[in-house]
Amino acid sequence: MQTIGLIGGMSWESTAVYYRQINEAVRQRHGGLASAEILLRSVDFSRIVALQQAGRWDQAADELAQIGRQLAGAGAACLLICTNTMHKVADVVAEKAGVPLIHIVDVVGRALTAAGAKRPLLLATRYTMEQDFYRARLAGLFGIDALVPEATDRGLVHDVIFDELCCGVVRPDSRAAYLDVITRGKAAGADAVILGCTEIGLLIGPEHVDLPVFDSTLLHAEAAVDFADGLLLAA
Ligand code: GLU
Repeated sequence: MQTIGLIGGMSWESTAVYYRQINEAVRQRHGGLASAEILLRSVDFSRIVALQQAGRWDQAADELAQIGRQLAGAGAACLLICTNTMHKVADVVAEKAGVPLIHIVDVVGRALTAAGAKRPLLLATRYTMEQDFYRARLAGLFGIDALVPEATDRGLVHDVIFDELCCGVVRPDSRAAYLDVITRGKAAGADAVILGCTEIGLLIGPEHVDLPVFDSTLLHAEAAVDFADGLLLAA
């Protein structure tokens, strides 16, 4: 099994899910006491959020790239950036790391394609829903045209992520609000839902939604185990 490098802490609430999910998958596949070889570097999320809010993506890119290099130097055979949003700087991290980066959009895109989903509703931070790096990659590599909620709903989805989920707060009224957003997305033509923020799975799952659900965290973690097992070639 190869060593998985995780750039985490964004937020740690979802990095904890990655850690558990990767180890659960290894136990399921290999049995007994088998567990994953993982190198985890967890950052202070408040610093990264300050850079996001200031639009200083270049500095964030440098920091994550440096961490990626350190993980590779310490023996990581691949890298995962454990947040969708920070995939805005994934190319810089990948280029500087010198080991394959398992890109979350590619993992989600493959799963959507395999399921035949063509018009998924993307729930994510404002950065991910409104900027180009995520939807353009889904469109360019997979021909998938992701819908996003309208502006008020995008604000709601974003605020719940940062004000609640990243702080460890899971509220039933926020779950209901998300489900209303999904209902509106379905009425607008969505045929699936992407949980395109690594914390959203803490709030909603397939059991709440009457469309196929693609949880970026779970898919990304599974892809890491595929890589570690030699079943996935990442770019
Ligand atoms: N974890 C979230 C994501 O997947 C948001 C945190 C961040 O801004 O990096 O996008």
